[in-house]
Amino acid sequence: MQADVAIIGAGPAGLAAATVLARLGFTQVVVIEREAQPGGIPRHCGHSPFGMREFRRVLRGPAYADRLAAAARAVGVRIMCDTTATALLPGPVLELSTPAGIAQLAARAVLLATGTRESSRIQRMIGGQKPGGILTLGALQGMVHLNGQRPFSRPVVLGTELVSFSALLTCRQAGIHPVAMVEPGCNVIARGPSWALPRLLGVPLMMQSRITEILGRDRVEAVQIVGPDGTRRIATDGVLLTGAFRSEAGLLAMAGIAMDPDTTGPVIDSFGRLDQPGYFAAGNLLRPVETAGACWAEGQRAAEAIAAYLSGALPDREQGAELQIVGDAIRYALPQIILPARPGWHDRVQLRLARAARGELRLTQMGRIIARRRINARPERRITLSLPAGVTAAPLVLTLDERG
Ligand SMILES: Cc1cc2nc3c(=O)[nH]c(=O)nc-3n(C[C@H](O)[C@H](O)[C@H](O)COP(=O)(O)OP(=O)(O)OC[C@H]3O[C@@H](n4cnc5c(N)ncnc54)[C@H](O)[C@@H]3O)c2cc1C
Repeated sequence: MQADVAIIGAGPAGLAAATVLARLGFTQVVVIEREAQPGGIPRHCGHSPFGMREFRRVLRGPAYADRLAAAARAVGVRIMCDTTATALLPGPVLELSTPAGIAQLAARAVLLATGTRESSRIQRMIGGQKPGGILTLGALQGMVHLNGQRPFSRPVVLGTELVSFSALLTCRQAGIHPVAMVEPGCNVIARGPSWALPRLLGVPLMMQSRITEILGRDRVEAVQIVGPDGTRRIATDGVLLTGAFRSEAGLLAMAGIAMDPDTTGPVIDSFGRLDQPGYFAAGNLLRPVETAGACWAEGQRAAEAIAAYLSGALPDREQGAELQIVGDAIRYALPQIILPARPGWHDRVQLRLARAARGELRLTQMGRIIARRRINARPERRITLSLPAGVTAAPLVLTLDERG
């Protein structure tokens, strides 16, 4: 099989990129999707609001996913569902597992848009027995919205990120009544009015508390929680793990592509290029985690960058300057390699903090501040710093001056 551009992942980023590439005149744009339907995570999200940026209306996740797929198909994009990319080979060439067997797909460029997933119990080091009834929110949403199942009726919810509050809504829709919401930190991680939701739904919020053990032989029967008042055992029939996202980057790691341990995604340059010729990345694969609208916009930008690459209009990746982070306040920043502006350019640095902090963010090049911004933020807040178009390829240093 042959394509102009192959895209792995039919979520908002992949479908947006495919649609733009087809509109730019590429006739053979193929999207590979392992699920039976395109749309990515929004297919599992029975709630709104999706689509304001893309369609100027408030849509529920499945309707939004359908619209994205319909827009791509309308301009001639081929979406191959039930097909998993199993290896990335030089060329670029993809190894695929399809309903008809193993196949190879050669393309002039490949965009990886495989998204993000929540950390499992093992990644979070939660001990105890191994009963059934421990799920991430992504898995629960798939069971509830796609399969009509109700895997538990009174779980404990771990986490207070934005998705953790979506978890409470998903539970409500499915007739599930969480018995507690547990947050290891001192503050609720999500911003704003979501804080009121547990109280409105009658779910006790336990701050500075950790699940140390899950108990139960066949199914979850209880969890042990250590908090400010000591150790408690709570009777429950499930554990719902929310947030603590990690990039879905197994394919890249297997291919030996350079990864950033802080973002958990690939190292990209200003055009979303990876360190293997012809490979690009966009969407939540780049870092955990942005909204669907932000990933959609990133997919569009990646399409422009790929088109520029295929016409020979991008500067060599090796000419870029590595972005160096100084100090312990900044958890990650991307793109990790900065090049001067061209079509499809990431026009800003995206970053997250490692801890709550305030001060002045500064991007310095050859001792000169080329971008600055005052911030007062918590770790989960999205922060961006606009880059001047005339940025050169000399080394760049990103710092947070907490006195500033
Ligand atoms: C549980 C959960 C709830 C969320 N809730 C919201 C929300 O309410 N609102 C919001 O704006 N954002 C939400 N998000 C963030 C969400 O991930 C983004 O909104 C958006 O879906 C990201 O788009 P994407 O295209 O980068 O990735 P995704 O939507 O994750 O799409 C990636 C696609 O790649 C496919 N894929 C992965 N690997 C392969 C492979 N090897 N071969 C073939 N296909 C592959 C996957 O099946 C998937 O369809 C949520 C995320 C999660 C995990």
